[in-house]
Amino acid sequence: MRPDLIARIVNDPFGDPALFLSRRFEKTAFLFDIGDLSLGSRDLLKVTHVFLSHTHMDHFCGFDRLLRLLLGREKTVAVYGPPGIIQQVGARLSAYSWNLVHRYRDVLRFRVTEIGETTSRTHVFSSRLSFKAEEEMRGHAVSGGIRPILETEDLTVTAVPLDHGIPCIAYRVTETARIQIRPDALARHGYVPGPWLGKLKQALYAGRPGTDMIQPAGSPGHRAAGETGGHAAAAESPPPCSLGKLRDRLTKIRPGQSIVYITDLAGTRENIRRAAALARNADHLFIEAVFLEADQKHAGKKHHLTARQAGWIAGASGAKRYTLFHFSARYEKMNPGREETQAVFYAEAARGVAEGAAKRGRNTGPGGNAAPVPCPFSYPAAV
Ligand SMILES: [Zn+2]
Repeated sequence: MRPDLIARIVNDPFGDPALFLSRRFEKTAFLFDIGDLSLGSRDLLKVTHVFLSHTHMDHFCGFDRLLRLLLGREKTVAVYGPPGIIQQVGARLSAYSWNLVHRYRDVLRFRVTEIGETTSRTHVFSSRLSFKAEEEMRGHAVSGGIRPILETEDLTVTAVPLDHGIPCIAYRVTETARIQIRPDALARHGYVPGPWLGKLKQALYAGRPGTDMIQPAGSPGHRAAGETGGHAAAAESPPPCSLGKLRDRLTKIRPGQSIVYITDLAGTRENIRRAAALARNADHLFIEAVFLEADQKHAGKKHHLTARQAGWIAGASGAKRYTLFHFSARYEKMNPGREETQAVFYAEAARGVAEGAAKRGRNTGPGGNAAPVPCPFSYPAAV
């Protein structure tokens, strides 16, 4: 079955890291990091939420492109990032002169949320106010560790702060389980699609009692159960049916997908523990692998993971699939073949996956792999 969430790394794995997450049948998209992006305007216009890991240039310099593209359109973009992000978005906006935009009929707003270790706060910047910050929610305490930052009808985004020498945020998108109609079952029972199916789904999502009656729509010639004979006996509409019966006959539950984006973190025990917990049983983990294990000292200095550590996180979390990105440019220069270089990263990560998965296997008590045992090749935080 084709997934509804479509995630893709925007650039070449040696380029600026970013993940574009769109949804089938929908015109909106999420963007994780906004550096120099090889993303067309059509895709960029779909973006409603930008989730920033941190504001090193390779993750943030594309903000101006988004701003320029959206100016003059009626739109609100939610931006999430680590502490300081409100001030930094404000600084980007205040770098330009805005003596005319307050008159624009279509208002562009950036709703910026800082994700702290134990607090969160949101400010809004609106073109109507020449992008001066308008406070929306004062800082409020949140539970530390992994916490939800966005909840809609059909998905939840959770985040966890990590250490990259500066604070850095990793994100997980989890789709809500969905009720689906089975077209074969619909036809078999002589029903036809129509607005009543929307009402049926709504009733099920709302948890209405199975005895509630629903009026289905039938195909021409539909006969109510038990009806026999008579060439002109086609019923205009089938008889009402109970919600419970329709649920059992026509629907199935499709589990939601989960996508995880983790980049720019030092290979410390605590970071690795948090990352593995965030990615627990994810359908697809996108994770940085900046250096190879041979360069672990350098990785420590730069506050980045090695491919082996990235693999370990994938293995320990039980992620079903993983994609590596953010390879250091030093390997691009050192090796003639980019594909060969990538293969080296994946081979090293595969070793880490096996090591991480072995640890997960030994940790299947109550709570499963919620707290994987410490990664044996983590590094203390570099000074
Ligand atoms: Zn980076």
